[in-house]
Parts: sequence; structure tokens; C-alpha cells
Amino acid sequence: MGTGHSHSHHAPRDFSKNPMNIYWEMTQSCSLACRHCRAEAISAPHPMELNHEESVAFLRQIPQFDRPLPQLILTGGDPLARADLYPLIDEARRLGISCSITPAATPALTREVLVKLREHGVDGLGLSLDGSTAERHDSIRGVPGTFDLTMKALGWAQELGMPVQVNTLAAAETAGDAPGIFELLKPFGIARWSLFFLISVGRGKVLQPLTPEQAEQLMNWIHDTSKVAEFTVSTTEAPSFRRVALERMRADGMTGEQIQRSGATRSYGIRDGHGIVFVSNTGDICPAGFLPLPVGNIRKDSLVEMYRDSPLFRQLHDPAQFEDRCGVCDYRTLCGGSRARAFAATGDPLASDPLCLYDPSAH
Ligand code: SF4
Repeated sequence: MGTGHSHSHHAPRDFSKNPMNIYWEMTQSCSLACRHCRAEAISAPHPMELNHEESVAFLRQIPQFDRPLPQLILTGGDPLARADLYPLIDEARRLGISCSITPAATPALTREVLVKLREHGVDGLGLSLDGSTAERHDSIRGVPGTFDLTMKALGWAQELGMPVQVNTLAAAETAGDAPGIFELLKPFGIARWSLFFLISVGRGKVLQPLTPEQAEQLMNWIHDTSKVAEFTVSTTEAPSFRRVALERMRADGMTGEQIQRSGATRSYGIRDGHGIVFVSNTGDICPAGFLPLPVGNIRKDSLVEMYRDSPLFRQLHDPAQFEDRCGVCDYRTLCGGSRARAFAATGDPLASDPLCLYDPSAH
């Protein structure tokens, strides 16, 4: 999950040509086994994991996108489990690519590692926090001790001045704890807090997604909280939050210009496969980590061509091709729904996002 902050000053870009964020699942290897892991990570690397040379060749494709180059988010599994992590970061930095990393909360995540990541030019850190107490967090993740490690890492990052994005699962089991997590985060000077609205895939199946009504309520709370928070508060896989925020800002009497100046609209338009692309540990090019539909493989295909011209990405770039509510919605360009959730629910990535309550025909 990217911190996104490093691009806030850039002019708007054409997401049908260039992504904002490239998520690279460097490895599926991870010594944790969190209950809701998208990657269903296991302790060993996949036998077909991109090797060092293939990984370097992948990184060298990224500058073929237009400037400003997309940000690279190193994920896993646990990216700290890649033996060649630092040489790969060095190569990305040499190519002029900004890098963030989302390490797993294992004993391998130490203050020394954060110092080293910063020395190698990593711009941001993503950490997962799913509960306001050790009991809540560890029971959601299913791995004892990860809460304490995460809190330590938050403190170290603050000391070192590393921008942090905290990612929190929003599911039936966690939504009520959001105010507690917000209180907990307040002193840490983080850059961004993103609530990831659970999609029932992978190990996520053991947790319950929010109903559309619960999601709407939480999105309203996120909007209220974003107004008082000293950091950005946003959502992952819930772009209809943008619709909720716009409705609320308009209800408050804000003009279009005021809304723009508030910065709230900065990420608008980005969704799975449009502003976002995901490269799996075996090199598969997918629209997002939660939308596992490979359009090609980095070993033989051009990332830029697949992103711009593969049939699936072309459809995802064009909200007029979305079906049902999302296809006719007046928010389809700014929001467009979670394509990953549409796919998880129906098998069709162009279907409507079932999390959204909005009925375009009533407006
Ligand atoms: S109907 Fe689809 S495009 Fe419209 S606000 Fe809801 S999720 Fe977004």
C-alpha cells in the first residue's frame, strides 16, 4: 500500500497512460500467516519467483512510463524476506523511481532495518494496524506479538522522520474499533491512514465484510475524522468514499473550487487497473493485488503496453464500459467502484461495486 504523499504536488496525470502506483509483490514468503492475507503468504518463496536479473529487468521497464514516474510500492509476503532487497531498491533509485515498502511485523523489522531502508533512499513505510489493543489486533491478524512490533516500528519511523502510511482493515469485526485506532495513531505524526474495506478473497474469507449500510456509516465517519485529523485519512478498495465525501462537502455548501483546494479530490479517478497496477511475485501483471486477472507476465510482456493497451486494462480505463449502477453513475469517473470487489462478488471485473449504496437512477 503506497503512502502516496510524495506525489501530492504533481500535476494530474492521465491514468489511462500512466499509473500513479506500481505495487510489486516481491515475494510471497512471510513468516506470519495473517488470517486475511491477500497473498496467502507462506514461509517459502514460490519456485517461479522473479529472480534477481528478472527483477532488475522489470524495474528497468518502469522508466518507459511518462514523467513523473509512478511510485513503486514494495509488498509481499514480506519484502524483508527478499535476500536482494537492498540491491533492488538501489536499482530503482538509480532509475529515478520513488520507493515505499510495506514490511511485515516480524522480528526482522528492527530500527536498524528502518535506518538502512532510509539510507538506501526508501521514501515511505506502510504498516498494518488492525486493532487499538494487542488483543484486538493480534486476534484479527491471528498472529500474537504483531501489535507490539507494529507500535515499536511506528515509534522508530517517527524518530527517524520516515513518512508512514498505516493500513487498517475495515471489516465487521473491526469497524467499531476505528475511533480507538484513530486515538492510538494521533501522537505518531503519520502521513496517512487508509482503511482497507475487506474483500472476501484469500484468507479474508474468515472475516466478514461490512454491509453496504455499515460501509456508508464508516465512510461518513472517515469523512468527519479527515476534517479533524492531522494526517490524511482515506480508503483502499472503497472508492465510493469519494462520492460520500463529495456529497458531504456539497451539503456543507462548499463550492467546486473550495472542494478542489481542500485537496480531497487528489486521488480521485484512481482505481484498480487505472492509476494502479500490480506485479505478482511470479511476474504476472494484474490490475490490482485484489484483482488477480493477469494480462501478461513481466518476463515476456511490456508493462507499459499491458497497462495501456491490454483488453482488460482498456476496459478498466473506460468507466462507460462498467455495468449496471457504476456504468451510468454520475460519479463513475471520479469513483468507478472497486473493480476487485465487483470481480470477487460476480466474476466480472466490470460489474457494479456491491458495497455502494448509491442509486444513480434516483438522482
Ligand atoms: S455506483 Fe459505482 S461509480 Fe457510483 S458511487 Fe457507487 S461505486 Fe462509485
